[in-house]
Amino acid sequence: MGSLVKCGACGERCGTRPIGTYFRWMRADGVWKHYYARICAGCAASKVLPLERDYAGTERLTCPSCGIDTDDDYDAIYVTYFAGKGPQGDADAPFCNVHAAEYRTWVLGFARDTDNDVGAPGPLRESMSASQTLRALGRDPNVGR
Ligand SMILES: [Zn+2]
Ligand SMILES: [Zn+2]
Repeated sequence: MGSLVKCGACGERCGTRPIGTYFRWMRADGVWKHYYARICAGCAASKVLPLERDYAGTERLTCPSCGIDTDDDYDAIYVTYFAGKGPQGDADAPFCNVHAAEYRTWVLGFARDTDNDVGAPGPLRESMSASQTLRALGRDPNVGR
């Protein structure tokens, strides 16, 4: 059975269950940024899975895009993804500066900035606020303070 969800990255309807993917990195000003998107298996295979690799003890880090040595100066992007019933995947990618910027631009093009979910004005988002959660549990958030 297909999925009703369209891939956040390529916009095509996912043939299988979408893969919930979290991206995070530290901005130049030291602020951690977090993004979330549901993407199709194809996009995951081309953009996320290649980032997952282990570096042996003394092996030097290399940029996953161009392969240059980034051991002394990498610009890391961290990805966690949940593919259906499969296990959670994690990737710590030691990009070079150029490809870190390129990857971030790709993520920013479609992923949801989850840092703005709390306390942000505007339309209702997917996640529930604390007061909504309390109401859903049958409790009035204005009572019992
Ligand atoms: Zn896709
Ligand atoms: Zn690179």
